[in-house]
Amino acid sequence: MAKRLKQFFLIGLVVISFNLLAKENSDPQITFSKVNEHFWVLHGGNGLGANVGMSVGKDGILLIDAMNIKVGKKLIKAIRTISDKPIMYVINTHQHADHRGGNEELVKLGATVIYPNYLKYLSSTYTQYDGVAREIQFQDKMTLKFNNEIFNLFHVKSHTWNDVIVQAKNNNIVFTGDNHATNWGPNIGVRGKRSISDVFDLVLSLSDSKTLVVPGHTALADRKHVVEYVSKLEEWTTHILKLSAKGVSVKQIADTAEIKRLLAWFHGGKYPKWLTEERLFARIDSTILIDEKSPLNLTPSELSSYVGFYQLDDGSQVEIFSYQRELYAFKDKTFTSLLLSRSKSHFDFAGWNEKEKINFEFKPDGKASKLLFSVNGKVEFSATRIND
Ligand SMILES: [Zn+2]
Repeated sequence: MAKRLKQFFLIGLVVISFNLLAKENSDPQITFSKVNEHFWVLHGGNGLGANVGMSVGKDGILLIDAMNIKVGKKLIKAIRTISDKPIMYVINTHQHADHRGGNEELVKLGATVIYPNYLKYLSSTYTQYDGVAREIQFQDKMTLKFNNEIFNLFHVKSHTWNDVIVQAKNNNIVFTGDNHATNWGPNIGVRGKRSISDVFDLVLSLSDSKTLVVPGHTALADRKHVVEYVSKLEEWTTHILKLSAKGVSVKQIADTAEIKRLLAWFHGGKYPKWLTEERLFARIDSTILIDEKSPLNLTPSELSSYVGFYQLDDGSQVEIFSYQRELYAFKDKTFTSLLLSRSKSHFDFAGWNEKEKINFEFKPDGKASKLLFSVNGKVEFSATRIND
């Protein structure tokens, strides 16, 4: 059971993190792109984690993302080959471990972590040292002046609920996190089409033909690539929804030349051989789920009948909460997911790449008493409600 529990809510993380792209390499090295004397990009990949933006100047060092937890020391070593100035800030583009794991080592050196706090978020992990939280949280937008640069931070809900798009205005650089990439995709966000338009309208408004676009992983890009990425995302969604509306099965959709062509484009021109059939089906499924079938509209009193804490056998808990008339599941400070109500007892997970579901059981008074979490039709665990 414990092993299964670990899989809960980590499945989504595994799918949308990029370990799949990592080639086996026992001692991968961090490589650099020098933008100018004051701006660098340190490249992850090969299991190291995300790309890291680095501003160096009179105020010290500011980083955008921090790679994986085990890479913290290696990242600092790489930074020290460029500059020995103090590391003052780390901005996390979202909570996935490959972007913020290195925080732990950086806060030991005195760095302050900056991230948006929307819904439930794993705030304390990786941002504390000696019991002191070294963090700045913001809501929608934050501006930071550092090294003669204006850093504009925008909170968007796309790849996760806590994504940040970072603009380094004077250097004309935009960091897109995991919303955009040069050799993987498509990313179907937590809010489907709304995610796509929110994030890319912003990125396009912040950029011009000379902007350097830095994705969370893979090679550097420009505005032109972002424009193309958006149009391919639109082709992907339109194609799938059109066929799905005609009753074409997911398997048949996956077999179409259009899907193969688009997947090759997203993966830098080559069809990704590592993409299993199951995962491809799940990606198509999640595209259909989020954009086509609208969830039921639950009334506030119906929503409140699910809200509460549910305990698992191992003592851990799932919290079901509602925000702005939508229902969310939160587990172990690791994941928050929007629940899409398909019926009163059955909910899908928005933006996930496997078929995760929560089924509720009810007491005679109509309040939920138990939840069952399943993946691809198999129950992974059940949890009993511990409050009324
Ligand atoms: Zn991510």
